[in-house]
Amino acid sequence: MSNHRVLQASVLFLSLSLLSATPHQREEETTRSTPITRFQQYLRINTAHPTPDYSSAISFLQSQSHSLNLTSQILHFSPSKTKPLLLLTWPGSNPSLPSILLNSHLDSVPAEPAKWSHPPFSAHHSPSDGKIFARGAQDDKCIGLQYLEAIRILKSELGFEPIRTVHISYVPDEEIGGFDGMMAFVESKEFEDLNLGFMLDEGQASVTDEYRVFYADRSPWHVVIRAVGMPGHGSRMYDGSAMENLMKSIEVMSRFRENQLDLVKAGLAGFSDVVSVNPVYLKAGIPSSDGFVMNIQPSEAEAGFDIRFSPMTDPDLLKKKIADEWAPASRNMTFEITEKGPLRDYLGRPLMTATNDSNPWWSIFKEAVEEAGGKLSKPEILASTTDARFIRQMGIPTLGFSPMKNTPILLHDHNEFLKDTVYLEGIKVYVSIIKSLSSYEGPASVQLSYGYSLKFKSGVRRGRVGHGSLGLEQGNKFVDGIKEGSSRVGPDQVKTCETCCRREYEPDSGVY
Ligand SMILES: [Zn+2]
Repeated sequence: MSNHRVLQASVLFLSLSLLSATPHQREEETTRSTPITRFQQYLRINTAHPTPDYSSAISFLQSQSHSLNLTSQILHFSPSKTKPLLLLTWPGSNPSLPSILLNSHLDSVPAEPAKWSHPPFSAHHSPSDGKIFARGAQDDKCIGLQYLEAIRILKSELGFEPIRTVHISYVPDEEIGGFDGMMAFVESKEFEDLNLGFMLDEGQASVTDEYRVFYADRSPWHVVIRAVGMPGHGSRMYDGSAMENLMKSIEVMSRFRENQLDLVKAGLAGFSDVVSVNPVYLKAGIPSSDGFVMNIQPSEAEAGFDIRFSPMTDPDLLKKKIADEWAPASRNMTFEITEKGPLRDYLGRPLMTATNDSNPWWSIFKEAVEEAGGKLSKPEILASTTDARFIRQMGIPTLGFSPMKNTPILLHDHNEFLKDTVYLEGIKVYVSIIKSLSSYEGPASVQLSYGYSLKFKSGVRRGRVGHGSLGLEQGNKFVDGIKEGSSRVGPDQVKTCETCCRREYEPDSGVY
């Protein structure tokens, strides 16, 4: 049956049932809780910065988790305790296996209501085309509730029981850097206790028929270059003024920017593969009562840039480029780089998750999407950053995925919307994904990232892995730092990092 005819048939059915319903029944129909009305409810909670209403969002999600019989705990990582993190758990039948984490963030970016066709927190459901308009509809309240709706179906309709434990996290502050959210969470005892094997986090909408999936984020740097030079009368021509020094740098950087963009335009690289260099401010001149003093060449000038690069870019080479070409000391230039987040994981590897058969999580994920009738496009690097980087920093395989196909990319935009049919189809996809991931019992080999694999007899077990506490950075034994009571690591583990650091780790000493 064509879509058109299905629609016609359901419209007919709906109008017939409305015709025959009593006023009381009709009211029940409109107030009944459905996946769509629950999604609307969540969207109506204003969790936009700068004053996100986290407590209402948490109460709503907790009431959902109670109806699903999930255990829940609220964690705080900010001193003010105003930024709760909700952690829900669906215990598996074999809790010794590493668990699965499904993550989303509670907060969203602000909206300018005047520029929206419907108020951004009304969750208006358009009757003609099924679009649900709200800030957070795509980024990322959709996935937050789709996880729960999928679990509802798995539990109540399919009677499914997971083998691996499934955790669902709702973290604060992702949109403002995640410092009191995911960044602090990964450092905590509670995180360590999750014994995570794999995580799913947010992705982005796809304008085609295929779902997009992301195996890495780009890393942002905020770079400020400063020039100093001899001040002088506005009429004089001389070498080495601050403005001249700065402008020379801007020219060099603009050329680089153009080359990178040309690669994209020529189809030789994707937007996320190249280094983006975008000027964001210029600061120079001597202020006067009506603007700037026009007859003095200033002695200082600076410019700020937003620079982003993929994990394939060598940050040391980029730093060298800035020092040698963009802000050379020979032209009286200095620079400052503010790194916004980690660049490497705790073993010094690029923050990427393998998307080939060496990573069993990838294969399971891909097959599960296909089993649900979905198709994945070529895995991508996300142009922006998400909380996934903090999990990848722990060496835990993480994919970014939001099942929205045939949908314009509207995150952070006016009139952000998601179609009801797309939302409901996404739930089905998660049913398949959660079922497959949580049923996975082996095998013994898990590639944690590119070029480095650890083979275990029974799954992967990690202790506290943050910031070199495993001792690997110091070249200590692999097992150092794994907390007592952890599973025994099998004797067949590979201890060589094949591509990135090429270090060999000492044989298993039996310290656990
Ligand atoms: Zn997001």
